[in-house]
Amino acid sequence: MSTIFSQIVEGEIPARIVYEDETTIAFLDANQLAPGHTLVIPKDEYERLNDVPEDIATDLYATIHRMVPAVEEAVDADATTVAFNNGEDAGQEVPHVHCHIVPRFEGDGGGPIHAMFGGPADLEDDELDDIADEIESRS
Ligand code: AMP
Repeated sequence: MSTIFSQIVEGEIPARIVYEDETTIAFLDANQLAPGHTLVIPKDEYERLNDVPEDIATDLYATIHRMVPAVEEAVDADATTVAFNNGEDAGQEVPHVHCHIVPRFEGDGGGPIHAMFGGPADLEDDELDDIADEIESRS
């Protein structure tokens, strides 16, 4: 079964499409967290960032790179929060990779991504060394 975003790509359901190329598409989020809230997706269906092939990831970033200034200028935003909810436990509801570009305005009260967490995790230096080694060995 195709995702709701694939249905947008196929033109089966309406969307306010603001950019499209061979492999990616951008459209307004149906529930605007701020005016201009835009989603950028690969046209092909990949559930998580981890599933996106390298060439499509390159295309996806190129479209994000193009759309961030376009969105900021269009709504005269002071900044943007650019984020992926990558996986269900991170709040991803639509299982089709999508980047949120959310315009930000001085005093909008949204806070930084850090505001999602109570504060820094309590980790000892040796734990951080181990974690860094584990990540490095997989990079
Ligand atoms: P996430 O929680 O990261 O999976 O975000 C999914 C986003 O998709 C939400 O912000 C929804 O508002 C948005 N969304 C769901 N259906 C549509 C749709 N048909 N057109 C545009 N945006 C949608």
